[in-house]
Amino acid sequence: MDLGSDLGLTPDEIALRERARAFSNDVARPRAAQIDRDEQYPWDVVKALTEAGFAGMTIPKALGGQGRSFLDVVLVIEEMAKACTVTARIVVETNMGAVSTVMAYGNEAQKKLAAKLVLEGDKPAICITEPDAGSDTTAMTTRADRRGDTFVINGKKHWITGAGVSRLHLIFARVLDERGEELGIGGFLAVRDEAKGLRVTKREQTMGLRGMPEGELTFDNLEVPVSMAIVPPSGLRRGFADLMNAYNSQRVGAGSVAMGIAAGALDLALDWAKTREQFGRPIAEFQGLQWMLADMQTQLTASRLMLYQAARSRGADGSAFPDPMLAAQAKIFASESAIKIVNDALQFFGARGYSRELPLERMARDVRMFTIGGGTAQVLRTLVAGKMLGWKLPQTRDGYTPKPPMRDAAE
Ligand SMILES: Cc1cc2nc3c(=O)[nH]c(=O)nc-3n(C[C@H](O)[C@H](O)[C@H](O)COP(=O)(O)OP(=O)(O)OC[C@H]3O[C@@H](n4cnc5c(N)ncnc54)[C@H](O)[C@@H]3O)c2cc1C
Repeated sequence: MDLGSDLGLTPDEIALRERARAFSNDVARPRAAQIDRDEQYPWDVVKALTEAGFAGMTIPKALGGQGRSFLDVVLVIEEMAKACTVTARIVVETNMGAVSTVMAYGNEAQKKLAAKLVLEGDKPAICITEPDAGSDTTAMTTRADRRGDTFVINGKKHWITGAGVSRLHLIFARVLDERGEELGIGGFLAVRDEAKGLRVTKREQTMGLRGMPEGELTFDNLEVPVSMAIVPPSGLRRGFADLMNAYNSQRVGAGSVAMGIAAGALDLALDWAKTREQFGRPIAEFQGLQWMLADMQTQLTASRLMLYQAARSRGADGSAFPDPMLAAQAKIFASESAIKIVNDALQFFGARGYSRELPLERMARDVRMFTIGGGTAQVLRTLVAGKMLGWKLPQTRDGYTPKPPMRDAAE
């Protein structure tokens, strides 16, 4: 059902969504249950996605991509997520996240490298989270020490999506100059199979999304040429804020996966409500269920509108990325609504909903992730409230301790 979902879409966008829907039904849907059971990254689906042009859509045409918008990607993600969450996440990560960060802030060599790998079927990894630095990203201890023409990276990241399958890695680390003076937090590109010192040291045992490996990465004197350090226009010192700003596209992508799962679950519940009979009539005739359907549809439509709006928006100062406020609100609302919608859809099926023979239990496990990964619902609320108040809200007991200005020595 697409009630209310065509709002403001152009014929080209609707055509793209139709193409994505056909792919989702023909390629992703038949594989979804097995991907979950086998817990294997679906290379066959990746190949098909790449051949169909759903990977690297946002890469500029000059680099071999299609120069498509974030809204285009949202439309594709929703269709994939209705059938297979892992496929939808591959679409997120081959069009948003690390690849769009490189396209916005990378030098020519970095852009060419990222475009080549993604268009060949690579899903780049973003490496931020550490065991002791989750929501508090600035507590990261992974460090990149400048040694002549290279940076030497040491440290550990965990819960990295694509660990062991991704080739391109965007690694965040504290940057130190030759004298050991800290310059800020920077991003570095490394290709796993070409780099010594980048190892997958654990695979996380996840509740859902089981075909997408999450893992711990250890960097042991990983050498990255200086030319592979990403220096945003605002410089290395302010660069972390720019790099995290790029995360706003990933947030819209994550919210869209959640929304797509919810849309798929609602489709199933609606069909079942018309088919299943109890007390001599279809269960759809019971008002208790009708009102649940109406609430599910209302939340879904609101999520869609917020995600479309966020995908179309841009932050201040000519940002290439969605507005942080709109992206955060859309992710909070879409992810929390999706958990409720999928849970309610499962309820429509009674005992069958609890069975592994139907996709609802898989969807319920998969959808649970989206209030956690990519900024938790709590941290995003802090971001929204901070912007409303015009304050930088203190998170530590003593508030923020301003650091002395840092030099831009690596530029
Ligand atoms: C499936 C999955 C994939 C992921 N993929 C990646 C990836 O590819 N790359 C990557 O770098 N990371 C990834 N992550 C990690 C994710 O970004 C972190 O889990 C997230 O930022 C939260 O960090 P944490 O798990 O350490 O929780 P913590 O930060 O320890 O938070 C614990 C709880 O405290 C709450 N909390 C923390 N601080 C505050 C505050 N100031 N105010 C109110 N509440 C607060 C949180 O909301 C949460 O409920 C992934 C996580 C998952 C689950």
